Amino acid sequence: MFSRILIANRGEIACRIIKTCRRLGIHSIAVYSTADADARHVREADEAVAIGPPEPGASYLQVDRIIEAARQSGADGIHPGYGFLSENPLLADACRSAGIAFIGPPAEVIRAMGSKRRAREIMAGAGIPVVPGYEGEHQDDQSLLDQARHIGFPVILKPSAGGGGKGMRIVRSEQRWAEMLTGARRESRAAFGDDQMIVERYLARPRHVEVQVFADSHGSVVHLFERECSIQRRHQKIIEEAPSPAVDEDIRSRLTSAAVAAARAVGYQNAGTVEFLLDEDGSFYFMEMNTRLQVEHPVTEAITGVDLVEWQLRIAAGDPLPAGQEEIASHGHAIEARVYAENPFNDFLPSTGRIGRFLHPVGALDLRVDTGFTDGDAVQIHYDPMIAKIIAWGEDRDQAVDRLRRALARTMITGPTTNLPLLRRVAGHPDFLGAGMDTGYLDRHLGDVLCAGPAAGDVALIAAACALQMDQDDSPESAVDPHSPWDRSDGWRAGGGGARMRFADACGDSRELGLAGWGGRYTALIGDRCLPVTASRLDPDHLDVRIGDDEYQATVLTDGDECFVGLDFGGFEIRRVPLFPSAADRGEEDLHPVAPMPGRIVAIHVAEGERVERGDPLLVLEGMKMEYTLAAPVGGVVARIYFREGDMVEADTRLVDIDNAGDSEQ
Ligand code: ADP
Repeated sequence: MFSRILIANRGEIACRIIKTCRRLGIHSIAVYSTADADARHVREADEAVAIGPPEPGASYLQVDRIIEAARQSGADGIHPGYGFLSENPLLADACRSAGIAFIGPPAEVIRAMGSKRRAREIMAGAGIPVVPGYEGEHQDDQSLLDQARHIGFPVILKPSAGGGGKGMRIVRSEQRWAEMLTGARRESRAAFGDDQMIVERYLARPRHVEVQVFADSHGSVVHLFERECSIQRRHQKIIEEAPSPAVDEDIRSRLTSAAVAAARAVGYQNAGTVEFLLDEDGSFYFMEMNTRLQVEHPVTEAITGVDLVEWQLRIAAGDPLPAGQEEIASHGHAIEARVYAENPFNDFLPSTGRIGRFLHPVGALDLRVDTGFTDGDAVQIHYDPMIAKIIAWGEDRDQAVDRLRRALARTMITGPTTNLPLLRRVAGHPDFLGAGMDTGYLDRHLGDVLCAGPAAGDVALIAAACALQMDQDDSPESAVDPHSPWDRSDGWRAGGGGARMRFADACGDSRELGLAGWGGRYTALIGDRCLPVTASRLDPDHLDVRIGDDEYQATVLTDGDECFVGLDFGGFEIRRVPLFPSAADRGEEDLHPVAPMPGRIVAIHVAEGERVERGDPLLVLEGMKMEYTLAAPVGGVVARIYFREGDMVEADTRLVDIDNAGDSEQ
């Protein structure tokens, strides 16, 4: 077994690997860029080596620096985690030359599976069904179009060298073909340095089901059952579970046999995942094989009790598989939700910034939280914006869902915008509870899922208002004359202290609430109801709130106007807004669109002096992990463009001025 392992990664996965190292008594060595000098993975590792500047290309993706760091620190193995160099055969090659074990499969296997084209060829050759499509050499526009016609629209374009959803385009009809192909190639070149495409039939309502496999260097291959990852946004997984509710014993047996056959066909070693699309009629197709540990591996750990990282280490050290197929059993159900710094209400734009508070349940029954962040850590532009994974286990799916929902309700992050509201909505959505979602579900129903049901519940509003008001009641100005209404800007006049407040949820729906009273004893006016409320603080983040005869424990965090409220039955993110919003505010913003995220301007579609209609594309911004097309918020004449193609811009920088004076006079 190894004695010193270097982890060529960062964030939650580095922290995850460190945990297993610690348990096994292995010395862990972290690497870090200058931006990560005080990151959590660096703090948790036994030792850490600096490898360069913040840009991944100059640090985490530099094979030479990683090998040098391993040499310098005397590591006998390198664990690549996922992302970064994990599927880059050059690291595996370099490890071999340096006499350091690579904790993953042989370089040749990574090379073969890293090309979606080659992988499809090998699997088809081994008799495993693949999605009908074209992965050939003829990459000119006309040949690809001919293939797409032959397959039949809709089709999906994927970079052959791809991963992470980058450069993929669904082309629904021939009219959009040329534009989509250009975009897919551009994104693919930027991300992978290669623009070869494969064209596949786009299945209408498939589910994403993948099988965890393990193979040792002695010829044994086993599977650790399947995971379902159909809850995706933009073809990226956000909620995963095991086992798959769509897989019965018959499908399971065919699916896992195909996965084991796939692993054998490529001479696999170590941990791998064979991804399939499962069609509505129970047929499935090979999609790709990931030659590394997956983000969602904890759900498999939760149902099998196996520490996948430990198995990876043992196999890389030359040991045989720790268990045979018949010894691997599955028990219960596990679900993982990925918390990202991104805004589901605004096109999933990534968000960055320092986390003020990160609260999540600890020590709860059958709950696991994997994260690389704590209070005060920054989500940085250079890296993946995933903040945490919340994994709940239950005896059955209902219990796992219930535990996940409670956990999400009590998880709060101040600072960057997160997708927590979306995760909470999905976890409580009838179609998710009924396990009826396919991979396109969320993209098709995003509006309904995000803004369905009542706006933030009355209890949450009252709890938020009490927390704000108690702070106000405690403040020194208020202590001078707690009952004086005259200094207040919020307009409340009735019966002494208290306030009128308006809160909006992320969908923009707002509600008003009045609170009369002082020091935790209030009367709340909400809608046409008048309710007696008493609130007391249990600690700075928790309130005991009694409304009439009902008592609630609420977690309340405030960050400026933002309020995060966690209750047993749900989590709410609401914002205090002015009682009387000015209608002019919005119009002014529309004339000066700003960068919604930090990034590089990769294309400008308009010139100064040109006329645009509302919705016309103005420019394309490439940031953290996506391309974003900025559309004209209003019609008018482009008066000024502040940047040129290739320029880097910060979030909220003014990009363009639109003059619509002429329009409004009409
Ligand atoms: P990447 O490696 O970039 O993540 P994948 O090939 O794994 O890309 O596909 C990611 C997701 O895209 C799948 O989980 C599925 O939702 C969708 N997808 C991929 N291929 C197809 C297809 N042929 N038909 C329908 N959906 C597809």
